[in-house]
Amino acid sequence: MKRFLTALALSVGFAGASLAAEDDMKPVMTELKDGGYQFHMAHYSSLVVITDEGVLVVDPNHEFRAEAMRAEIARLTDQPVVKVLYSHPHFDHSRGGQIFKDEGAKFITHAGCTELLARDLEKRVVQPDVTYEGDEYRIELGGKVVEMRYYGANDGQCNSAIYMPEDKVLMAVDWHLQGFVNMPGRLNTHDYVGSLNTLRRVTAELDFDTVISGHMPSSSPEQLAEDLAFNKALFKAVWDGMQAGKSVEELKETVKLPAFSHWFMYEQNLPAHVERMAYSIWHGQ
Ligand SMILES: [Zn+2]
Repeated sequence: MKRFLTALALSVGFAGASLAAEDDMKPVMTELKDGGYQFHMAHYSSLVVITDEGVLVVDPNHEFRAEAMRAEIARLTDQPVVKVLYSHPHFDHSRGGQIFKDEGAKFITHAGCTELLARDLEKRVVQPDVTYEGDEYRIELGGKVVEMRYYGANDGQCNSAIYMPEDKVLMAVDWHLQGFVNMPGRLNTHDYVGSLNTLRRVTAELDFDTVISGHMPSSSPEQLAEDLAFNKALFKAVWDGMQAGKSVEELKETVKLPAFSHWFMYEQNLPAHVERMAYSIWHGQ
């Protein structure tokens, strides 16, 4: 596991050899915009918005990160955490929010996540106080605007893109991982056509100059664009092959995306992505 984490740290963003996994274990709070911060620790990122009316956090990302994040917030403000947003229900992102619940935070997510969040057998997920239905939920806090936007299934069935329209900040969790051809086991809930659709829509419809990835130490509009290009190229190669009557097994052996051969784990993991894309096209999810 440590080897994988080291490799991930070296591969996604800040690719310099100086970045070791040990460094990524350190909590890093980076100010993106006035009052808007990225908290990153051990391969997970949260959005933190600090206002005079309280603090908003997106994704606790496990107890140890939530505690480290709370300490970093306390260095910046005396305000309580009043809102916690879940980008999506996967427990590695949603567990650990009790520390914020204890100080009175309200938890918010898409209505489609409710049942999935309730499945945590270890009971480490604070259940939502507020859910939204439809495509958009707007939060105003202390002069800041944070929107949750639902574009349909992508990585999971109820993932919200987090968008600060006035600050031009976009947070993309699990449907944006530029530079890394992800491990096959992590594709189980990855709706590839849906993820491509989400990447297309945020690019076409939202105005942003700052991007947070749920797992990369840093991202950017350019890196999101490269991710979109990978998703488009994979879709086209698989679609064209299927239209030509090729089997999934043939496509796994023949599809190559040389423009992305420098992405980490390209050789090892691309066939699994070809397969997942093929079934996503075939099944519609
Ligand atoms: Zn994730």
